[in-house]
Amino acid sequence: MKISEIKIIANGRWNKIIGDLAPQLSDAMAKKGRHVECPCHGGKDGFRVFEDFENTGGGVCNTCGFFNDGFNLLSWANGWNMGDTINSIKSYLGIGESGNYKNLPIITQKKEVTIDDSETLDISGVRTLKDIWENSLPLNEYQANTAWKYLAGRGLKPLYSKSIRLAHNVPYYENINGLWKVTSRQKAMIAPVWNKYGKIAALHRTFLSNDGGKANVKTVKKLTKKVRSLSGGHIRLFNPFEDTGEHIDLALFETDRKEYRYSETIGIAEGIETAMAVKELTSMATWSSISSSYMPKILIPDGIKNVFIFGDNDLSGAGERAALKTKENILQESNGEINVTIYIPKDVGKDWLDYLGKYR
Ligand SMILES: [Zn+2]
Repeated sequence: MKISEIKIIANGRWNKIIGDLAPQLSDAMAKKGRHVECPCHGGKDGFRVFEDFENTGGGVCNTCGFFNDGFNLLSWANGWNMGDTINSIKSYLGIGESGNYKNLPIITQKKEVTIDDSETLDISGVRTLKDIWENSLPLNEYQANTAWKYLAGRGLKPLYSKSIRLAHNVPYYENINGLWKVTSRQKAMIAPVWNKYGKIAALHRTFLSNDGGKANVKTVKKLTKKVRSLSGGHIRLFNPFEDTGEHIDLALFETDRKEYRYSETIGIAEGIETAMAVKELTSMATWSSISSSYMPKILIPDGIKNVFIFGDNDLSGAGERAALKTKENILQESNGEINVTIYIPKDVGKDWLDYLGKYR
C-alpha cells in the first residue's frame, strides 16, 4: 500500500494516531492552532499543531521546523526514520501486507458537508440528494478507494476533500423512446454543487468502473436533477478558511514573489480534476465551477481578497471567455476590492491538469 493511500485512511484519525503514538504532543493537540511549549526543544511557545490537525496531522515549531503531515510530525517527535513511522502507523491502523485493514479507529469529523434542506423548492429532490450523500463514503474510508484510484489514474496525488465521496449502486438513467429508465447501476464519485446563493442545488456525479476507470456509460459526468437554481453552480473542494498550515506557492505562475494569505485566496478552475491539479500545483483552496457555463456567476465568499482563475484553453475559446466574464463580474460585485488574476495554459486544447506531470 502506497503512503498516499495510508494518508487517506489516516485522514480524520490523526488525533487518535498521534495521541497514542506520541502522547507528548497531547498538550498541543488539546490547544489546536495555539502555541505551546515545544515537546522536543522546550522553549515557551514555539510549537503548534494545525487547526486542521485531525485531517493532516501536521504541525510547526519555530525552531525545529515545519511538518506538513502526521508522518513527518511523528518522525520528528519520536526520532523515528520514515520507515519506522510508516510501519508504526500501518500497524496502529491494522493495515496488513495485502492492503487489508481491521480495527480502524472511528472518524469523528465535525465539519462534514451537510445537505441543507431549508427553503427547498423541490423536497423530494432534496431527499434524493440526501439519500445518495448519506449512503456514500468519505474518501478516507478504505471502501472508497475506487475514487482515489480514479484520481490517481488522472495523474493526481490523492488529495482529501470533504466535498467528495464515493457512492455505490448509483442509478444511471437513460432516455429510451421518451422515457427515463435506469439502465445500469454504477459506482460514482459524488460532490455537492452549490449555487450563487450559497445553497446546495444538485450533486455532481462521475460514474466509475470497479477498477477506478471511467464507467462504460454514454455520459461519465452528470448532475442530478437540480432542487433549486443552479446559477453559478460550483463545487467547494477545499475550504480557504480552514487552517491547514499550507502556504500558497505561485512560483510556477508568477515571477514576482507576492504573498497571498491562504484564508483570503481562492482558485477557480472548471473541472474537479483540474481544480485538484491547481491545488497540488499551488496549495491554494481551489473550487470547481463544473464547466465554463457555470463559472461567471460563481459565489465568492466574504473575506476573500484574491481570486485566481485557472481557465481551460479550449479551441472554441469558451474557457477564456468564461474566465474573462467571471473576472468582470467579480470586479463589479466587489467594487474592485477583490484582485482577480487569470491564468490560461498557452497551448490550445490544454487545461492545468495537463501541466501537472510536467511540473511535478
Ligand atoms: Zn521545537
